[in-house]
Amino acid sequence: MSSSSSSTGSTSSLPKRVNVLGQPIDCVTMDQTIELIREYLEGNATKLILTADSNGVVSAEKDENYARIFREAALITPDSNGPVWALRKLGHEIPDRVSGVELVERLCALSEELGFSIFFLGAAPGVAALAAKNLKDKYPKMVLAGSRDGYFKKSEDIEIANEVALTKPDVLLVAMGMPRQELFILDTAHAIKAKIGVGVGGSFDVHSGTVKRAPKLIQKIKLEWLWRVLLNPKKIAKVKNLPVFWWRIQTRRRRPSQ
Ligand code: UDP
Repeated sequence: MSSSSSSTGSTSSLPKRVNVLGQPIDCVTMDQTIELIREYLEGNATKLILTADSNGVVSAEKDENYARIFREAALITPDSNGPVWALRKLGHEIPDRVSGVELVERLCALSEELGFSIFFLGAAPGVAALAAKNLKDKYPKMVLAGSRDGYFKKSEDIEIANEVALTKPDVLLVAMGMPRQELFILDTAHAIKAKIGVGVGGSFDVHSGTVKRAPKLIQKIKLEWLWRVLLNPKKIAKVKNLPVFWWRIQTRRRRPSQ
């Protein structure tokens, strides 16, 4: 069986870390994630939170950039239904997914409670600012460090990081797609010095109202991925790994590396 468990990090309430097709995923709920975030806020080094999907797991087998973000993340949450299903199939209890969209909102609520600041980096021009504004309307006491779009070249990373660093964010949300967003967090951590960096994919598009989430019924029957592909056929590249993920979990065999 392609599953094994171990502890992660140095926190008091450690989630079980499970090997899913060679990549680590933490058996963690949203509430446990928030508890860990409270602990990370007390630390010094930037902790990367990766919200993992099936495409990321499959891609990490061949792509070193994906493999690196799984290796270096402090916490890896099951972002989509694929990892949740796989964890259950591998015999672990997991009540629900911990998605980037919901995590962004919970972080804003927590910022309102604790007073730490959040920077919104990513998405098309204006989208991060609109997402931040909508969330600030909902959580007026959340502390907004700043916002910026995610359309810049890799060669500009350090320049952008220095701009972000001026705002001294405690939490950096990056919405530029995986693995670009997580690599940005890892490679600029020395400059930005946030306590936490989270790759949040299309979350700003949702919170800004630019892209609507699938209707509740579609979410319930686990077809949100199909909804997204129908709205944006470019996403087909990301979903092509879904059947591979499904088939490999269904037919999993013990492999030397797992
Ligand atoms: N994006 C960006 N810079 C880029 C490419 C993409 O800021 O160079 C943004 C894009 O506008 C979208 C987000 O990254 O808001 C990625 O969303 P997607 O749904 O593809 O991410 P996923 O959740 O699938 O990783």
